[in-house]
Amino acid sequence: MKEPARILVVGGGYVGMYTALRLQRKLKRELRHGEAQVIVVDPEPYMTYQPFLPEAAAGSISPRHVVVPLRRVLPDCTVVIGEATAIHHGKRTATVRTLATEEEGTGTVDIHYDELVLAPGSVSRALPVPGLAEFGIGFKTVEEAIGLRNHVLEQLDIASSTRDPDVRDAALTFVFVGGGYAGVEALGELEDMARYAVRYYHNIAPEDLKWILVEATDRILPEVGEEMGKYAVRELRGRNIDVRLETRLDSCVDRIAALSDGSRFPTRTLVWTAGVKPHPILAATDLPLNERGRLKCTAALQVDGAEHAWSAGDAASVPDLTADRPGTECAPNAQHAVRQAKVLAENVAAALAGQPLTDYEHKYAGSVASLGLHRGVAHVYGRKLKGYPAWFMHRVYHLSRVPTFNRKARVLAEWILSGLFKREIVSLGSLENPRAEFKLAADTGRHPGAS
Ligand SMILES: Cc1cc2nc3c(=O)[nH]c(=O)nc-3n(C[C@H](O)[C@H](O)[C@H](O)COP(=O)(O)OP(=O)(O)OC[C@H]3O[C@@H](n4cnc5c(N)ncnc54)[C@H](O)[C@@H]3O)c2cc1C
Repeated sequence: MKEPARILVVGGGYVGMYTALRLQRKLKRELRHGEAQVIVVDPEPYMTYQPFLPEAAAGSISPRHVVVPLRRVLPDCTVVIGEATAIHHGKRTATVRTLATEEEGTGTVDIHYDELVLAPGSVSRALPVPGLAEFGIGFKTVEEAIGLRNHVLEQLDIASSTRDPDVRDAALTFVFVGGGYAGVEALGELEDMARYAVRYYHNIAPEDLKWILVEATDRILPEVGEEMGKYAVRELRGRNIDVRLETRLDSCVDRIAALSDGSRFPTRTLVWTAGVKPHPILAATDLPLNERGRLKCTAALQVDGAEHAWSAGDAASVPDLTADRPGTECAPNAQHAVRQAKVLAENVAAALAGQPLTDYEHKYAGSVASLGLHRGVAHVYGRKLKGYPAWFMHRVYHLSRVPTFNRKARVLAEWILSGLFKREIVSLGSLENPRAEFKLAADTGRHPGAS
């Protein structure tokens, strides 16, 4: 019997999940008859809908509703929970570390493939700022978003109970570095949540909270255009948020954020969202990378010069065929990732069937961003919106985009419920250390003086 054509998808994010979904539909017959196999490898058993992370941090959406379980949506694919650590495309082999291989002590397992879809996305672009690695937190994963929510609420508890004014001041100072989607939306939502939460603290007033947004360039939210970016700055400043443009974080040693304009802020919260860089796994392959470390791809989403290798999304440098300037790459965003995944899956299926490939071409439609509850900015298809209409559009757009009907229904139900009831402002920080209570009990039991 002929061996099935094995398609290995590395990464189950936007590109990986949508590619596998489409392949599952496109190759339905082949998958049923064992003529093809789609294997999806991701360290997490879910795809994260990243644009909802700020709302998850604010408590408007439960963390489990911003993720899509891969096994549920990909029943005809093989889902492997593991991390690709190297790829030898010459030998058509990916080296993968899974929980099982760790447990068994075998280290890694090799997966052979015929076609490779490499979509590990990007990671935070951390700069060598002194103290950043020790104190900074990113905002790319659901764990980080929920960790940050718990942390912010915990700071209110610290500020409320301390007698030390320096501790109180540092607890109530929140520094965000990076004025893109992630930084601005996360700050906007968390500031909104914290301002609401302090009404339940007898000794903290909203004016006591200090929120600082640090951005190296002269604008924020470049995705929504200059005019809307300026509006966003005015809106945030109107809420007493200290927006510092053309300013960089120089250091945060000893939890003191030192900025390039000479100001210093003792703080217990430093959120770093100053850009992304391609995933380091790309450097552990024999595939061609561009000068910025992204996989060099053709407009048909094939890795340039490497047969049977495909890529898209944040990891790939894909020529933007709609740009006026030749050499322009598609920006790393969800809008391109989702549409590229569709073309990629079609092209993989076409290649298997010996049919011609299609080039990816999409003119960036603009963007929407939330600045907190009932506030937003949008610049889509030439139309500019701000305030409530933009925020509403942001919700409608993302509700239409979040994968699966199941997730759409759950998110909508949560929004309706949170409109009817008050916000949830509880910190479940101890979830991050579930054994603490039992460990204390066990240690006390072992203690010679314990009764
Ligand atoms: C907070 C936030 C808000 C955003 N908001 C917007 C927005 O409003 N609009 C917009 O257009 N874009 C937005 N983006 C950007 C958008 O989410 C990304 O451009 C998009 O996710 C890129 O898709 P991708 O498939 O390339 O990467 P991802 O979706 O990040 O998927 C990569 C996947 O690869 C997996 N992976 C990583 N390493 C390995 C490995 N070694 N082996 C196997 N798997 C691996 C990861 O676990 C992940 O599941 C936002 C991003 C963030 C962080």
